[in-house]
Amino acid sequence: MTRPILAAIDTAAFEHNLAKIRGLAPESKIWCVIKARAYGHGLEAALKGLGSTDGFAVLDIEDAGWLRDHGWQGRILLLEGLFHENELSLAHQLACDVVIHCENQVRWLEAFDALPHSRLNVFLKMNSGMNRLGFKPDAYRTAFHRLHAAGYHMHHMTHFANADQLDRSPTVDEQLECFNAGIDGLPGATSFGNSATILWHRNTLGDWVRPGVILYGASPTGRYSDIEHGGLNPVMSLTSEIIDTQELAVGERVGYGGVYEASEPMRIGIVACGYADGYPRHAKEGTPVWVSDPSMKNGGVICPIVGRVSMDMLTIDLRGAPKANLGTGVELWGAHVPVDEVAYQSGTIGYELICAVAPRVPVKII
Ligand SMILES: *Cc1c(COP(=O)(O)O)cnc(C)c1O
Repeated sequence: MTRPILAAIDTAAFEHNLAKIRGLAPESKIWCVIKARAYGHGLEAALKGLGSTDGFAVLDIEDAGWLRDHGWQGRILLLEGLFHENELSLAHQLACDVVIHCENQVRWLEAFDALPHSRLNVFLKMNSGMNRLGFKPDAYRTAFHRLHAAGYHMHHMTHFANADQLDRSPTVDEQLECFNAGIDGLPGATSFGNSATILWHRNTLGDWVRPGVILYGASPTGRYSDIEHGGLNPVMSLTSEIIDTQELAVGERVGYGGVYEASEPMRIGIVACGYADGYPRHAKEGTPVWVSDPSMKNGGVICPIVGRVSMDMLTIDLRGAPKANLGTGVELWGAHVPVDEVAYQSGTIGYELICAVAPRVPVKII
């Protein structure tokens, strides 16, 4: 007997979502962004499901090494370049493309004496208004010319702060204008499109797009309704089982703090999933959990959470699922419950939940 919780990763959904993205950005090459263990899905499943991509974008050079060790021969982009000078020769050996965003990194590249330099592709990052990583336009041109003179293959990159909302400043248009003016007359490919850009700013997507969250079937805005009709499929489903039930009399309370009180006699189910599995403790009462019931039209029914989520368990109202019992399967998120919906009920976005599935949750690649 093992604890019944499981994160199933559907590689066919990866393929499907990647094909959708190709359709949305037919002129662009694709960096599939697989930082943070492929947003919690694991590199193995990502390589299996996304193997037709043009390149993978990672944060840690260890992940680049993992990809090479597992046979990936395509491009690999180090999204924040090098964290230390001593990573440079490994990046070179692994034939990575590197993002360069600060003066220190420019100096490391200038001092690097492996030949030929040109084997390293540089995506120079411009700060076009987000004010996180990158060079402002004037400094950008200087850095570009220095690295170009040092023999590197130069390309251009920036990142948008507000591709998921139209009227926040800086807008995509403002940032693009800054970027285009900054790179005016310089050779090299461009990359600026994250998931939200691919979905909602499709007139100019640049030479390389960088989808992350939509590969996994979640929304860049954190609201499922924004992607509901986009034909993306969730890749991860987090499932578990009911491991106990309780009958509550009127006035009886559930769990820590006794925050839920039964207003009528009712049955609740205890599900083997808690915040130590990565389920958000802040999930509000009423957050949906899908409970399997083969006699129902859709194979199951949504039941709301009652009471506080605890470390290893959560509790659901079974009034809508009279047949549910010990061993009945539940889905915490996946095809029946969008992860964005759980996130919304918890004051966060789907990104955070999928990235935070705990190491103790077994993963199955399907
Ligand atoms: C994470 C990341 C992305 C992907 O962002 P999504 O919103 O998940 O599409 C793209 N570009 C950079 C630089 C990133 O760090």
